Amino acid sequence: MTIPGETVDSHCVVELRKVGKTYGSEPAVHALVDVDLALKSGEWISITGPSGAGKSTLLNVLGCLDRATSGTYLLDGIDTAELSDGQRAGLRSQRIGFVFQSFHLLPYRTVLENVMLGEVYRKQTARHREARARAAIERVGLGHRIGFLPSKLSGGEQQRVAIARALVGSPSILLCDEPTGNLDSRTSANLLDLFKKLNDEGLTLIVVTHDENVANRASRRVHIIDGKLTDITATDAKLLPAPSPPPKTSGAKVARSGISIRDLLNESLAGMFARPGRTMLTVMGVVIGLTALVATLGLSRTAGNRIVSQFDQVAATELFVTARPGAAGIVAPNAIPWDAPERLRRLNGVVAVGNMSEVDARDALVSASPVVDPSRQTAFKISVYAASPGLFRAVRANLAAGRVPDAGHSERADRVAVLGPDAARRLGINGLQQLPAIHIGDQLYLVIGVLRDVARKPELLSSVIIPEGTARQDFKLGGPGTVVIETKVGAAYLIASQTRAALRPDAPRTLKIEVPQEPRRLRDEVQSDVNIMFLLLGALSLIVGAIGIANITLVSVMERTGEIGLRRAIGATRRHIAEQFLLESGTMGVIGGILGASLGVMIVIAVSAYEVWTPVLDPWAPFLAPVIGGGIGLLAGAYPAMRAAYLEPVEAFRK
Ligand code: ADP
Ligand code: MG
Repeated sequence: MTIPGETVDSHCVVELRKVGKTYGSEPAVHALVDVDLALKSGEWISITGPSGAGKSTLLNVLGCLDRATSGTYLLDGIDTAELSDGQRAGLRSQRIGFVFQSFHLLPYRTVLENVMLGEVYRKQTARHREARARAAIERVGLGHRIGFLPSKLSGGEQQRVAIARALVGSPSILLCDEPTGNLDSRTSANLLDLFKKLNDEGLTLIVVTHDENVANRASRRVHIIDGKLTDITATDAKLLPAPSPPPKTSGAKVARSGISIRDLLNESLAGMFARPGRTMLTVMGVVIGLTALVATLGLSRTAGNRIVSQFDQVAATELFVTARPGAAGIVAPNAIPWDAPERLRRLNGVVAVGNMSEVDARDALVSASPVVDPSRQTAFKISVYAASPGLFRAVRANLAAGRVPDAGHSERADRVAVLGPDAARRLGINGLQQLPAIHIGDQLYLVIGVLRDVARKPELLSSVIIPEGTARQDFKLGGPGTVVIETKVGAAYLIASQTRAALRPDAPRTLKIEVPQEPRRLRDEVQSDVNIMFLLLGALSLIVGAIGIANITLVSVMERTGEIGLRRAIGATRRHIAEQFLLESGTMGVIGGILGASLGVMIVIAVSAYEVWTPVLDPWAPFLAPVIGGGIGLLAGAYPAMRAAYLEPVEAFRK
């Protein structure tokens, strides 16, 4: 086949002038020595020679897979020495077809897909690719095998697929390295008939062979020994034509090879799903790691949320203000002003506030009046507290019976009392129907209420509580002992910072304020011990997963050297190869991340359902997991991808 718009007959497709190729330096191997060769469009040339003579080297130079160390190589009049690697890859994909002794078909792709592969590194040819591939398959006589996998084909048929793949991009020359080497003689003969047909259609053929029968079918034969080329055709054809025109095309006009994102993704996915079982096992490490991470983070959030909500009920909303002992260690009785509740109630965020002071009853015993059961002990040592009216709300007191004293009781210094449930039991007071009263020392107090419980200050449960005003009068109470404040959720710290200024702007240091432990810190403390273990476990399995991906990718690079060589031959640059392997390992990581995130979330939900908790998830965790997985995949794939990219196609084919 020829490039449209170019004349067929006079045009030299290939022109080698004094081309040399030397490997290494000591000792230098001269694989090609001053090779001159000119090939007209439509010629069929065979190259023979003993092993090690330089045939493959010549073919690699002709195929732009390898650069000559000296001389000039013009392909379609283009000086290949001037070209960049991308442009040389472009030449391979657009003007050169390769056929190898071992067909290098991708085993997990159908005939059609294998042939379509011939054009993936020609970005601009995505349209009608399938139609062209079908036409190429018809051309080699395999129309009835289009959907077959290579393993279902005979050797001759496989080689025809390889030829169709080389032809699909309409190359200027077809380079064949021992194309019949793996075929029996009858199949070889058939293949030679195909070559004849293609050559008759105008295709330029270069065939390296050991087989005399194959060599003789060519229109021209050259022989190579120790890198030196001789024409042995009994014609007057000259190796080098008379002065040829200077190179007409500069490198700038050669399109670089390229692959569309879609094709690259396709190739990577196909590479992974070629061995789905192995891919899944490889992904497992990442799955386990990210499952552990997502589940640990989710469960700790869930458990933490539970701790916080219980804790919030009381502790996060309470403040206690007391007087700090002075220099002599004595607490000034009037450190806290009597009107502390009135002052603090004005602060935004205060729910309830009240004074609570232990009354120094001077060893006065408490007894019920009238005595309920004279046979038992009747007088007890029971502590007495004075409460301002707001205290009962501030400690979240619940009443079992009766009522709590109001501001009027306190102002009038009424002799009334409220009993804690334990105190009531000791005094034998069960209800208020009989208007019970108690003596504190000599004074008689009417019991107007009995508590059931309190949420804070549990000492009240076993005490007698009298109004603050009454305590000031009867017991000479010097000042409030403690101010109990209940705040709105989240307001405790703000109010704590304002309390000193509100109560003692003159001497703020005399007050001591107990704030709740910061809930987040408490939660973190609870969680950190458990978490650190699981996070370590997760990180460890991520590392194991990364090593797994790196290992499998490396193994698969080694296994797929043939494929890599083939891809290079059909136009891939090193970068394209690296990108494909990176994409494969990255995709494995992303899949691992998605699976890990889903499993982790499921674990959190399952455990929450079992424990009857509300599941709490960091919203970013499930979304970040695939990103982390992808990153790990890319990282793990970096080295194998580099190895793949730097694999010489020549080496790849030598295997
Ligand atoms: P053929 O294909 O005719 O059997 P080759 O072209 O493969 O021979 O090799 C020609 C010569 O170049 C041989 O002597 C071979 O050992 C040498 N050679 C080929 N490739 C390399 C290389 N990468 N490094 C060093 N020597 C090489
Ligand atoms: Mg060889």
